[in-house]
Amino acid sequence: MIEVNRADAPPDAGSVAPSPAAPPRPKKKLLRRAPDRAQALRRAAQVAFLALNVWIGVQFYLFVRYFETGGKSVWASRPAGVEGWLPIAGLMNLKLLLLTGALPESYPAGLVLFLAFLAISLLFRKAFCSWLCPVGTLSEALWKAGRRLFGRSFLLPRWLDWPLRGVKYLLLAFFVKIVVVDMPLFAMQGFFQSPFGLTLDLQMLDFFRHMSGTAATVLGVLAAGSVLVPNFWCRYACPYGALLGLGAWLSPVRIRRFPDPCIDCGKCAKVCPSRLPVDVTLNVLSPECTGCLECVTACPVEDALMLAAPARRRVSPWLVAAGVAGIFLGFVGVAKLTGHWDGSVPAQAWWELVKGGAGAGHP
Ligand code: SF4
Ligand code: SF4
Repeated sequence: MIEVNRADAPPDAGSVAPSPAAPPRPKKKLLRRAPDRAQALRRAAQVAFLALNVWIGVQFYLFVRYFETGGKSVWASRPAGVEGWLPIAGLMNLKLLLLTGALPESYPAGLVLFLAFLAISLLFRKAFCSWLCPVGTLSEALWKAGRRLFGRSFLLPRWLDWPLRGVKYLLLAFFVKIVVVDMPLFAMQGFFQSPFGLTLDLQMLDFFRHMSGTAATVLGVLAAGSVLVPNFWCRYACPYGALLGLGAWLSPVRIRRFPDPCIDCGKCAKVCPSRLPVDVTLNVLSPECTGCLECVTACPVEDALMLAAPARRRVSPWLVAAGVAGIFLGFVGVAKLTGHWDGSVPAQAWWELVKGGAGAGHP
């Protein structure tokens, strides 16, 4: 049902009465005709990518256990997709690629995925965060569960929200300075040849398997925050999302609101998990917009709000879903076909690396 148009409401007591010569023209209220499939599509993409990551995690765990048990457990080959969880290695390899012109031998899949996610952001805003990222999916599941539990979500006051949103950019700047600016090329190449650098994926697995009390506390706080505040991790702490958000600034597509059909009901702003003032904005250019299309789904009026390319061309949710999947599969497929997917560490070397406790140094 459409709510009352604000233009139809009686003026406030203190407001200036409209001129009789130019009475406010009531807006035409055109209900949306076709059902919106954006959220069903997005959920399907999220579930598929989460399942893919669970499979990658299990496969990698079995791979490591095989070496740890001296070959007595089930053999599983190392899934190169695990490198998608090493975005800092991806950033380092991007620098190596730009400086040497050669694709890296260590963690090539990580670089391929890093570039694929950047490309998704350049074309479809920060759609990686709301359509693919498994952490984003879990974070969304947590705040929606919290909303069901408490009957509402909680929002931090603006004076706290603004500085906290800067934390992810500070973390991003920290990593970019250390990795891109400060580390010379030879040091980076040496790092990737060291036992630690060869087993970054193993370090990550051990981070979760042998979690320190400090790390568990931090994760617990982030999880609790995610139950209460929509997208707590993504909004305040994720440097990867911060980087993709900066890339999304260059995107030709954006959420556009058309004031003529818009009835000013405010539903779009109310559902936006990024707290963006969609209802009073013509073009949503904020790097916080994840392209989740929740606002478009909530809008009750035909053609008032849409994801749009230049020249007002509507970008349908089907196109976003196909584009996100196509870019991901395209990058992975080309990398596999051209031999730039699997890294150069042979399985035999893992006997030495695991036996030598290469993963034991993680905090
Ligand atoms: S503006 Fe719309 S697409 Fe962007 S984050 Fe908010 S609800 Fe999602
Ligand atoms: S664009 Fe926003 S404010 Fe305008 S009709 Fe749609 S939901 Fe309501």
